[in-house]
Amino acid sequence: MKYALTTLGCKVNQCESAAMAQSLKEAGWVRAQRNEMADLCIINTCTVTRKASMQSRQSIRKAIRANPDAFIVVTGCYAQTEPDIIKKIAGINYIIGNSDKHRIPEIIISLLSSNKINRPPSPLLIHNDISRSRSFKHMPASACGNRTRPFLKIQDGCDDFCTYCIVPYARGRSRSMPPENVLKSIEQLKKAGYRETVLTGIHLGRYGLDLSPPTDFFGLLKHIHDARPIERIRISSIEPCELSEEIIRLVTKSDIFCNHFHIPLQSGDDLVLKKMHRPYTSSFFRELIIKIHQLNPDAAIGVDTLIGFPGETEAAFENTYTLIEKLPVAYLHVFPFSPREGTPACRYTDQLHPQVIKARCQKMRELGIDKKTKFYSKFTGKSVEVLIEEKRDVKTGRLKGITSNYLTVLPDGTDDLKNTIAKVRIDKVNDSDSLLGKL
Ligand code: SF4
Repeated sequence: MKYALTTLGCKVNQCESAAMAQSLKEAGWVRAQRNEMADLCIINTCTVTRKASMQSRQSIRKAIRANPDAFIVVTGCYAQTEPDIIKKIAGINYIIGNSDKHRIPEIIISLLSSNKINRPPSPLLIHNDISRSRSFKHMPASACGNRTRPFLKIQDGCDDFCTYCIVPYARGRSRSMPPENVLKSIEQLKKAGYRETVLTGIHLGRYGLDLSPPTDFFGLLKHIHDARPIERIRISSIEPCELSEEIIRLVTKSDIFCNHFHIPLQSGDDLVLKKMHRPYTSSFFRELIIKIHQLNPDAAIGVDTLIGFPGETEAAFENTYTLIEKLPVAYLHVFPFSPREGTPACRYTDQLHPQVIKARCQKMRELGIDKKTKFYSKFTGKSVEVLIEEKRDVKTGRLKGITSNYLTVLPDGTDDLKNTIAKVRIDKVNDSDSLLGKL
Protein backbone atom coordinates (compact mmCIF):
# COMPACT_ATOMS: atom_id res chain seq x y z
CA MET A 1 0.00 0.00 0.00
CA LYS A 2 1.18 3.51 -0.73
CA TYR A 3 1.41 6.49 1.59
CA ALA A 4 2.05 10.20 1.12
CA LEU A 5 3.42 12.35 3.95
CA THR A 6 3.34 16.13 3.95
CA THR A 7 5.33 17.89 6.69
CA LEU A 8 5.10 21.56 7.60
CA GLY A 9 7.12 23.47 10.18
CA CYS A 10 10.08 22.84 12.40
CA LYS A 11 12.86 20.29 12.80
CA VAL A 12 10.87 18.46 15.49
CA ASN A 13 7.93 17.96 13.12
CA GLN A 14 10.35 16.70 10.45
CA CYS A 15 11.82 14.18 12.89
CA GLU A 16 8.37 12.91 13.80
CA SER A 17 7.40 12.56 10.14
CA ALA A 18 10.62 10.61 9.47
CA ALA A 19 9.71 8.26 12.33
CA MET A 20 6.16 7.75 10.99
CA ALA A 21 7.59 7.05 7.49
CA GLN A 22 10.01 4.53 8.94
CA SER A 23 7.25 2.68 10.87
CA LEU A 24 5.07 2.49 7.76
CA LYS A 25 8.04 1.27 5.69
CA GLU A 26 8.76 -1.44 8.26
CA ALA A 27 5.10 -2.46 7.97
CA GLY A 28 5.54 -2.90 4.21
CA TRP A 29 4.15 0.42 3.01
CA VAL A 30 5.79 2.24 0.08
CA ARG A 31 6.03 5.99 -0.31
CA ALA A 32 3.94 7.15 -3.27
CA GLN A 33 6.02 8.79 -5.99
CA ARG A 34 5.20 12.33 -7.15
CA ASN A 35 1.83 12.35 -9.03
CA GLU A 36 1.16 8.76 -7.88
CA MET A 37 -2.08 8.07 -6.01
CA ALA A 38 -1.70 7.14 -2.35
CA ASP A 39 -3.90 4.92 -0.17
CA LEU A 40 -3.01 6.97 2.89
CA CYS A 41 -2.15 10.67 3.24
CA ILE A 42 -0.73 12.06 6.47
CA ILE A 43 -0.45 15.84 6.83
CA ASN A 44 1.80 16.85 9.75
CA THR A 45 0.68 20.44 10.32
CA CYS A 46 2.21 23.60 11.85
CA THR A 47 0.52 26.60 13.45
CA VAL A 48 3.44 28.77 14.60
CA THR A 49 2.13 31.67 12.44
CA ARG A 50 -1.17 32.48 10.71
CA LYS A 51 0.58 31.74 7.44
CA ALA A 52 1.60 28.27 8.66
CA SER A 53 -2.01 27.48 9.59
CA MET A 54 -3.17 28.64 6.17
CA GLN A 55 -0.49 26.53 4.46
CA SER A 56 -1.59 23.56 6.57
CA ARG A 57 -5.19 23.94 5.38
CA GLN A 58 -3.96 24.25 1.79
CA SER A 59 -1.86 21.08 2.13
CA ILE A 60 -4.85 19.15 3.53
CA ARG A 61 -7.10 20.23 0.65
CA LYS A 62 -4.36 19.49 -1.90
CA ALA A 63 -3.86 15.96 -0.52
CA ILE A 64 -7.63 15.28 -0.63
CA ARG A 65 -7.94 16.61 -4.20
CA ALA A 66 -4.90 14.64 -5.48
CA ASN A 67 -5.89 11.40 -3.72
CA PRO A 68 -9.71 11.19 -3.78
CA ASP A 69 -9.75 7.55 -2.55
CA ALA A 70 -7.07 7.94 0.12
CA PHE A 71 -7.48 7.70 3.88
CA ILE A 72 -6.70 11.22 5.17
CA VAL A 73 -5.00 11.74 8.55
CA VAL A 74 -4.28 15.25 9.85
CA THR A 75 -1.88 15.62 12.78
CA GLY A 76 0.65 18.12 14.18
CA CYS A 77 0.39 21.40 16.08
CA TYR A 78 -2.58 22.81 14.14
CA ALA A 79 -4.52 19.57 14.78
CA GLN A 80 -3.65 19.88 18.47
CA THR A 81 -4.74 23.55 18.84
CA GLU A 82 -7.58 23.94 16.28
CA PRO A 83 -9.23 20.53 15.62
CA ASP A 84 -12.66 22.15 15.21
CA ILE A 85 -11.46 24.37 12.36
CA ILE A 86 -9.80 21.42 10.61
CA LYS A 87 -12.96 19.31 11.03
CA LYS A 88 -14.73 21.73 8.66
CA ILE A 89 -12.58 20.54 5.73
CA ALA A 90 -14.54 17.80 3.95
CA GLY A 91 -12.76 14.53 3.22
CA ILE A 92 -10.70 14.06 6.41
CA ASN A 93 -10.93 10.66 8.17
CA TYR A 94 -8.81 11.19 11.29
CA ILE A 95 -7.63 14.25 13.22
CA ILE A 96 -4.93 13.14 15.66
CA GLY A 97 -3.34 15.60 18.11
CA ASN A 98 0.37 15.77 18.98
CA SER A 99 -0.51 13.88 22.18
CA ASP A 100 -1.16 10.74 20.07
CA LYS A 101 0.96 11.37 16.97
CA HIS A 102 3.36 8.54 17.95
CA ARG A 103 0.45 6.07 17.67
CA ILE A 104 -0.51 6.92 14.07
CA PRO A 105 1.26 3.96 12.36
CA GLU A 106 -0.29 1.46 14.81
CA ILE A 107 -3.75 3.08 14.46
CA ILE A 108 -3.57 2.88 10.67
CA ILE A 109 -2.30 -0.70 10.70
CA SER A 110 -5.09 -1.69 13.11
CA LEU A 111 -7.67 -0.29 10.68
CA LEU A 112 -6.27 -2.34 7.85
CA SER A 113 -8.10 -5.45 6.67
CA SER A 114 -7.50 -7.15 3.33
CA ASN A 115 -5.57 -4.18 1.94
CA LYS A 116 -8.34 -1.74 2.72
CA ILE A 117 -8.43 0.86 5.47
CA ASN A 118 -11.83 0.79 7.21
CA ARG A 119 -13.22 4.33 7.18
CA PRO A 120 -15.11 5.76 10.10
CA PRO A 121 -18.51 7.21 9.01
CA SER A 122 -17.36 10.74 9.96
CA PRO A 123 -14.00 12.35 10.84
CA LEU A 124 -12.69 10.79 14.06
CA LEU A 125 -10.85 12.97 16.55
CA ILE A 126 -8.09 11.48 18.72
CA HIS A 127 -7.13 14.44 20.84
CA ASN A 128 -5.96 14.64 24.44
CA ASP A 129 -4.98 17.54 26.67
CA ILE A 130 -1.26 17.65 25.81
CA SER A 131 -0.48 19.73 28.90
CA ARG A 132 -1.04 16.50 30.86
CA SER A 133 1.63 14.57 28.91
CA ARG A 134 4.52 13.86 31.23
CA SER A 135 6.63 11.29 29.41
CA PHE A 136 8.70 11.77 26.27
CA LYS A 137 7.25 9.73 23.40
CA HIS A 138 10.22 8.24 21.60
CA MET A 139 9.60 8.08 17.83
CA PRO A 140 12.76 6.34 16.56
CA ALA A 141 14.05 7.12 13.08
CA SER A 142 17.34 6.01 11.56
CA ALA A 143 17.06 8.69 8.90
CA CYS A 144 15.37 12.08 8.44
CA GLY A 145 14.04 12.27 4.89
CA ASN A 146 17.04 12.47 2.56
CA ARG A 147 19.06 14.77 4.79
CA THR A 148 22.83 14.10 5.02
CA ARG A 149 22.70 15.58 8.53
CA PRO A 150 19.58 14.07 10.20
CA PHE A 151 17.79 15.86 13.03
CA LEU A 152 17.42 13.96 16.30
CA LYS A 153 14.52 15.02 18.54
CA ILE A 154 15.61 14.64 22.19
CA GLN A 155 13.19 17.01 23.91
CA ASP A 156 9.59 18.12 23.45
CA GLY A 157 7.32 20.83 24.89
CA CYS A 158 7.94 24.12 26.70
CA ASP A 159 7.01 25.58 30.09
CA ASP A 160 7.77 29.23 29.27
CA PHE A 161 4.67 30.73 27.61
CA CYS A 162 6.30 33.69 25.90
CA THR A 163 3.34 35.98 25.22
CA TYR A 164 3.45 35.63 21.40
CA CYS A 165 3.99 31.86 21.25
CA ILE A 166 1.43 29.15 20.53
CA VAL A 167 3.95 26.30 20.89
CA PRO A 168 3.38 25.43 24.58
CA TYR A 169 -0.35 25.03 23.80
CA ALA A 170 0.48 22.69 20.89
CA ARG A 171 3.35 20.76 22.44
CA GLY A 172 2.65 20.67 26.20
CA ARG A 173 5.21 20.73 29.03
CA SER A 174 8.91 20.07 28.65
CA ARG A 175 9.77 16.33 28.38
CA SER A 176 13.13 14.74 27.64
CA MET A 177 14.47 11.53 26.09
CA PRO A 178 16.57 9.65 28.69
CA PRO A 179 20.32 10.17 28.09
CA GLU A 180 21.01 6.48 27.43
CA ASN A 181 18.39 6.56 24.63
CA VAL A 182 19.96 9.70 23.20
CA LEU A 183 23.31 7.90 22.94
CA LYS A 184 21.67 4.78 21.46
CA SER A 185 19.86 6.91 18.87
CA ILE A 186 23.08 8.67 17.87
CA GLU A 187 24.86 5.30 17.58
CA GLN A 188 22.05 4.07 15.32
CA LEU A 189 22.51 7.10 13.06
CA LYS A 190 26.25 6.43 13.00
CA LYS A 191 25.57 2.79 12.09
CA ALA A 192 23.26 4.00 9.31
CA GLY A 193 26.29 5.81 7.87
CA TYR A 194 25.71 9.39 9.03
CA ARG A 195 28.63 11.57 10.15
CA GLU A 196 26.65 14.41 11.73
CA THR A 197 23.37 14.70 13.56
CA VAL A 198 21.53 17.83 14.74
CA LEU A 199 20.19 17.66 18.30
CA THR A 200 16.77 19.27 18.28
CA GLY A 201 13.81 19.95 20.53
CA ILE A 202 11.20 22.58 21.29
CA HIS A 203 13.15 24.01 24.26
CA LEU A 204 16.48 22.19 24.17
CA GLY A 205 18.06 24.13 27.01
CA ARG A 206 15.51 22.63 29.39
CA TYR A 207 16.63 19.13 28.53
CA GLY A 208 16.73 16.66 31.41
CA LEU A 209 15.14 18.77 34.16
CA ASP A 210 11.98 16.61 34.02
CA LEU A 211 13.83 13.28 34.24
CA SER A 212 14.25 11.19 37.37
CA PRO A 213 16.99 11.56 38.48
CA PRO A 214 17.07 14.99 36.86
CA THR A 215 19.98 15.99 34.64
CA ASP A 216 20.60 18.98 32.38
CA PHE A 217 21.74 19.86 28.87
CA PHE A 218 25.37 20.34 29.92
CA GLY A 219 25.29 16.90 31.57
CA LEU A 220 24.02 15.34 28.35
CA LEU A 221 26.63 17.10 26.19
CA LYS A 222 29.39 15.98 28.56
CA HIS A 223 28.04 12.42 28.31
CA ILE A 224 28.09 12.60 24.49
CA HIS A 225 31.55 14.19 24.46
CA ASP A 226 32.97 11.34 26.56
CA ALA A 227 31.23 8.63 24.49
CA ARG A 228 32.12 10.16 21.09
CA PRO A 229 29.32 8.23 19.28
CA ILE A 230 29.62 10.08 15.94
CA GLU A 231 31.99 12.53 14.17
CA ARG A 232 29.86 15.71 14.43
CA ILE A 233 27.04 16.85 16.67
CA ARG A 234 25.25 20.17 16.01
CA ILE A 235 23.02 21.91 18.56
CA SER A 236 19.97 23.26 16.73
CA SER A 237 18.93 26.19 18.93
CA ILE A 238 19.35 27.19 22.57
CA GLU A 239 17.78 30.00 24.63
CA PRO A 240 20.14 32.77 25.83
CA CYS A 241 19.67 32.05 29.53
CA GLU A 242 20.43 28.35 29.07
CA LEU A 243 23.67 28.81 27.11
CA SER A 244 25.98 28.61 30.09
CA GLU A 245 29.72 29.33 30.06
CA GLU A 246 30.42 25.64 30.69
CA ILE A 247 28.40 24.69 27.58
CA ILE A 248 30.23 27.32 25.50
CA ARG A 249 33.63 26.05 26.76
CA LEU A 250 32.75 22.37 26.18
CA VAL A 251 31.49 23.05 22.63
CA THR A 252 34.56 25.21 21.94
CA LYS A 253 37.12 22.66 23.12
CA SER A 254 35.40 19.49 21.91
CA ASP A 255 36.10 18.36 18.33
CA ILE A 256 32.76 16.62 17.93
CA PHE A 257 30.46 19.54 18.74
CA CYS A 258 29.99 21.92 15.84
CA ASN A 259 31.27 25.44 16.27
CA HIS A 260 27.79 26.86 15.87
CA PHE A 261 25.41 28.56 18.27
CA HIS A 262 21.84 29.47 17.22
CA ILE A 263 20.25 31.74 19.82
CA PRO A 264 16.75 33.33 19.79
CA LEU A 265 16.93 37.03 20.76
CA GLN A 266 13.52 38.09 19.42
CA SER A 267 13.96 41.77 20.39
CA GLY A 268 16.85 44.04 21.38
CA ASP A 269 14.56 46.38 23.29
CA ASP A 270 14.14 45.76 27.04
CA LEU A 271 10.54 46.97 27.18
CA VAL A 272 9.52 44.71 24.30
CA LEU A 273 11.43 41.77 25.85
CA LYS A 274 9.46 42.35 29.05
CA LYS A 275 6.14 42.36 27.17
CA MET A 276 7.22 39.14 25.44
CA HIS A 277 8.00 37.60 28.85
CA ARG A 278 11.52 36.84 27.66
CA PRO A 279 13.72 36.25 30.77
CA TYR A 280 16.74 38.42 29.85
CA THR A 281 17.75 41.96 28.86
CA SER A 282 19.56 43.33 25.80
CA SER A 283 22.74 43.85 27.84
CA PHE A 284 22.64 40.23 29.06
CA PHE A 285 22.36 39.14 25.42
CA ARG A 286 25.19 41.46 24.34
CA GLU A 287 27.53 40.08 27.00
CA LEU A 288 26.64 36.50 26.08
CA ILE A 289 27.49 37.01 22.38
CA ILE A 290 30.74 38.84 23.22
CA LYS A 291 31.73 36.00 25.60
CA ILE A 292 31.14 33.35 22.90
CA HIS A 293 33.14 35.40 20.39
CA GLN A 294 36.03 35.89 22.83
CA LEU A 295 36.15 32.16 23.62
CA ASN A 296 35.62 31.10 20.03
CA PRO A 297 36.13 33.80 17.32
CA ASP A 298 35.41 31.42 14.42
CA ALA A 299 32.11 30.15 15.83
CA ALA A 300 28.97 30.86 13.81
CA ILE A 301 26.47 32.77 15.95
CA GLY A 302 23.00 32.77 14.42
CA VAL A 303 20.19 34.86 15.91
CA ASP A 304 16.38 34.78 15.69
CA THR A 305 14.50 38.09 15.71
CA LEU A 306 10.73 38.59 15.97
CA ILE A 307 9.86 41.92 14.36
CA GLY A 308 6.73 44.01 14.76
CA PHE A 309 5.62 42.89 18.23
CA PRO A 310 2.63 44.96 19.47
CA GLY A 311 3.85 48.30 20.77
CA GLU A 312 7.28 48.06 19.07
CA THR A 313 8.05 51.72 18.43
CA GLU A 314 10.52 52.92 15.79
CA ALA A 315 13.01 53.50 18.62
CA ALA A 316 12.47 49.97 19.97
CA PHE A 317 13.05 48.55 16.50
CA GLU A 318 16.24 50.65 16.19
CA ASN A 319 17.42 49.14 19.50
CA THR A 320 17.13 45.65 17.98
CA TYR A 321 18.79 46.77 14.75
CA THR A 322 21.70 48.54 16.46
CA LEU A 323 22.29 45.71 18.94
CA ILE A 324 22.68 43.20 16.11
CA GLU A 325 24.65 45.59 13.91
CA LYS A 326 27.34 45.99 16.60
CA LEU A 327 27.60 42.30 17.55
CA PRO A 328 29.71 39.54 15.87
CA VAL A 329 26.62 37.77 14.52
CA ALA A 330 27.07 35.45 11.49
CA TYR A 331 23.48 35.27 10.23
CA LEU A 332 19.92 36.23 11.12
CA HIS A 333 16.53 34.57 10.96
CA VAL A 334 13.88 37.29 10.77
CA PHE A 335 10.26 36.47 11.64
CA PRO A 336 7.34 38.93 11.32
CA PHE A 337 5.09 39.01 14.39
CA SER A 338 1.89 37.03 13.72
CA PRO A 339 -0.91 37.23 16.33
CA ARG A 340 -1.78 33.67 17.44
CA GLU A 341 -5.29 33.02 18.71
CA GLY A 342 -5.11 31.97 22.38
CA THR A 343 -1.85 33.82 23.20
CA PRO A 344 -1.77 37.02 25.33
CA ALA A 345 -0.03 39.07 22.59
CA CYS A 346 -2.94 38.37 20.24
CA ARG A 347 -5.15 40.48 22.53
CA TYR A 348 -2.69 43.38 22.88
CA THR A 349 -4.33 46.53 21.50
CA ASP A 350 -1.22 48.23 20.06
CA GLN A 351 -0.86 45.91 17.02
CA LEU A 352 1.34 47.32 14.23
CA HIS A 353 0.26 47.86 10.62
CA PRO A 354 1.38 44.92 8.40
CA GLN A 355 3.24 47.35 6.10
CA VAL A 356 5.29 48.65 9.02
CA ILE A 357 6.17 45.07 10.03
CA LYS A 358 7.07 44.21 6.44
CA ALA A 359 9.36 47.24 6.03
CA ARG A 360 11.16 46.57 9.31
CA CYS A 361 11.63 42.88 8.43
CA GLN A 362 13.09 43.89 5.08
CA LYS A 363 15.58 46.23 6.76
CA MET A 364 16.51 43.50 9.25
CA ARG A 365 17.00 40.92 6.47
CA GLU A 366 19.35 43.29 4.63
CA LEU A 367 21.40 43.60 7.82
CA GLY A 368 21.40 39.80 8.03
CA ILE A 369 22.80 39.45 4.52
CA ASP A 370 25.49 42.01 5.30
CA LYS A 371 26.49 40.19 8.52
CA LYS A 372 26.62 36.85 6.73
CA THR A 373 28.75 38.13 3.87
CA LYS A 374 31.19 39.68 6.36
CA PHE A 375 31.37 36.43 8.36
CA TYR A 376 31.86 34.35 5.21
CA SER A 377 34.63 36.57 3.80
CA LYS A 378 36.64 36.02 7.03
CA PHE A 379 37.42 32.51 5.76
CA THR A 380 38.75 33.33 2.29
CA GLY A 381 42.13 31.63 1.77
CA LYS A 382 41.63 29.38 4.80
CA SER A 383 41.32 25.57 4.85
CA VAL A 384 38.16 24.12 6.38
CA GLU A 385 36.60 20.66 6.88
CA VAL A 386 33.38 20.31 4.87
CA LEU A 387 30.75 17.56 5.22
CA ILE A 388 29.74 17.03 1.58
CA GLU A 389 25.96 16.66 1.24
CA GLU A 390 23.93 14.37 -1.06
CA LYS A 391 22.48 17.16 -3.15
CA ARG A 392 24.72 19.24 -5.46
CA ASP A 393 24.32 23.04 -5.65
CA VAL A 394 21.48 23.74 -8.10
CA LYS A 395 22.98 26.92 -9.58
CA THR A 396 26.62 25.85 -10.06
CA GLY A 397 26.27 22.05 -10.21
CA ARG A 398 29.19 21.88 -7.75
CA LEU A 399 29.31 19.68 -4.68
CA LYS A 400 27.77 21.38 -1.66
CA GLY A 401 28.73 20.96 1.97
CA ILE A 402 28.62 22.41 5.46
CA THR A 403 31.49 23.21 7.82
CA SER A 404 31.36 22.85 11.61
CA ASN A 405 30.82 26.62 11.82
CA TYR A 406 27.88 26.52 9.39
CA LEU A 407 29.60 27.83 6.26
CA THR A 408 28.05 26.55 3.02
CA VAL A 409 30.97 25.60 0.77
CA LEU A 410 30.85 24.59 -2.92
CA PRO A 411 34.00 22.64 -3.88
CA ASP A 412 34.54 21.05 -7.28
CA GLY A 413 34.66 17.24 -7.04
CA THR A 414 33.15 13.88 -7.82
CA ASP A 415 30.06 12.21 -6.30
CA ASP A 416 32.13 9.66 -4.38
CA LEU A 417 32.90 12.49 -1.95
CA LYS A 418 29.28 12.75 -0.87
CA ASN A 419 28.75 12.12 2.82
CA THR A 420 32.50 12.43 3.51
CA ILE A 421 34.29 15.16 5.44
CA ALA A 422 36.69 16.75 2.94
CA LYS A 423 39.41 19.36 3.44
CA VAL A 424 38.72 22.42 1.27
CA ARG A 425 40.64 25.67 0.77
CA ILE A 426 38.24 28.60 0.43
CA ASP A 427 38.82 30.67 -2.72
CA LYS A 428 36.13 33.34 -2.51
CA VAL A 429 32.63 34.36 -1.48
CA ASN A 430 30.23 33.10 -4.14
CA ASP A 431 27.09 34.93 -3.02
CA SER A 432 25.53 35.78 0.35
CA ASP A 433 24.80 32.08 0.89
CA SER A 434 27.93 30.23 -0.18
CA LEU A 435 31.71 30.09 -0.65
CA LEU A 436 33.66 28.58 -3.56
CA GLY A 437 36.57 26.33 -2.70
CA LYS A 438 39.13 23.75 -3.93
CA LEU A 439 39.64 20.28 -2.47
S1 SF4 B 1 10.69 29.45 24.81
FE1 SF4 B 1 9.07 30.87 24.28
S2 SF4 B 1 9.25 31.04 22.07
FE2 SF4 B 1 10.32 29.19 22.64
S3 SF4 B 1 8.81 27.53 22.41
FE3 SF4 B 1 8.81 28.25 24.54
S4 SF4 B 1 7.16 29.74 24.63
FE4 SF4 B 1 7.72 29.47 22.47
